[in-house]
Amino acid sequence: MTPRPRRLPRPTPTTRTADIMTRVHNFCAGPAALPEEVLKQAASEMLDYHGRGLSVMEMSHRSDEFVAIAETAERDLRELLNISDDYAVLFLQGGASQQFAMVPMNLMGEKRKADYINTGQWSIKAIKEARRYGTVNVAASSEDTAFSTVPPQNTWALSDDAAYVHYTPNETIGGLEYSFVPETDKPLVADLSSTILSRPLDVSRYGLIYAGAQKNIGPAGITVVIVRRDLIGRAGEQVPAMLDYRIHAENGSMYNTPPTYAWYLAGLVFKWLKAQGGLTHMATVNRRKAEKLYHYIDESGFYSNPVERHSRSWMNVPFVLADDSLDKTFLKGAEGAGLLNLAGHRSVGGMRASIYNAVPEAAVDALINYMKDFAQRHG
Ligand SMILES: *Cc1c(COP(=O)(O)O)cnc(C)c1O
Repeated sequence: MTPRPRRLPRPTPTTRTADIMTRVHNFCAGPAALPEEVLKQAASEMLDYHGRGLSVMEMSHRSDEFVAIAETAERDLRELLNISDDYAVLFLQGGASQQFAMVPMNLMGEKRKADYINTGQWSIKAIKEARRYGTVNVAASSEDTAFSTVPPQNTWALSDDAAYVHYTPNETIGGLEYSFVPETDKPLVADLSSTILSRPLDVSRYGLIYAGAQKNIGPAGITVVIVRRDLIGRAGEQVPAMLDYRIHAENGSMYNTPPTYAWYLAGLVFKWLKAQGGLTHMATVNRRKAEKLYHYIDESGFYSNPVERHSRSWMNVPFVLADDSLDKTFLKGAEGAGLLNLAGHRSVGGMRASIYNAVPEAAVDALINYMKDFAQRHG
């Protein structure tokens, strides 16, 4: 028999327990929705992980139990993305924002030069951070179209002596997404924070991929880095250990205490993705979710999305109302209908529906129904 955890105090009548609570449709850009099945499993294992009588949060990261959790998560991620042994998979802290610094510190080399493509707010932040460390050539930018397009690769002015080419495949704020993988003989570096695991990906095209977890991987606090092994070990002597990919790779991402609980939850999400049918299945569902939402926006005559059609994000769908004085009413009504976190990023306003893997198609249907109803009443 496994030892049973002691009973929790009975909830008072006003306490909403997980069983009777109605979960909302959560369109948050990040930290974002997690699969309900994953949360339920985590809840069931919270006090007593697999009969060990303690929570994952309370385990040593060096314990057999946790090492197994960590290794299984890595194995499942490798399987989902078909990652070859030529790549190391790291589970780090500091978010994607720390990768804006770690990438140049580790990959710029002695020439300290790299090419960046500017397609929106996250590109701008990556560029700004890289400039602290070396020379950034902005090889292309869509700033002149208010980031509503992706500059075609034949317009890019890539430099011969760049150590790598960095781009942002999905701009989370602008809802702008590349419909192609750039061609380059330099290591290609991608900030996949908001689109990783939304569909199959050919990892072999990349030198390095990074993604903060809180969009499509798991809870905030952990960052996945997938890096080709030959690119590891190029940081200079002055680079602090915690910012050196080599140190993390040599120590299995346990040079210091990793965010164990976030790692465990990410592992549960990977298992969930496999159970759904893997990334091919996710791609089918995600494409359908995005297409029906854009289709409705375009035909509504009331809502609009500014992004060029073939560069529209599958994950983040910004839209504006014909009359922005209705924004507050729209958001209030949405909240009343259980549709949460639809306000656009504070820098751009309007609305944004983030429809990551864990946002079910039924949530998108409910959103479209609400939007239709609202347009009818206010159009
Ligand atoms: C959210 C996001 C970031 C920032 O992630 P943090 O983990 O908060 O540092 C960077 N890039 C993209 C594309 C994002 O969506």
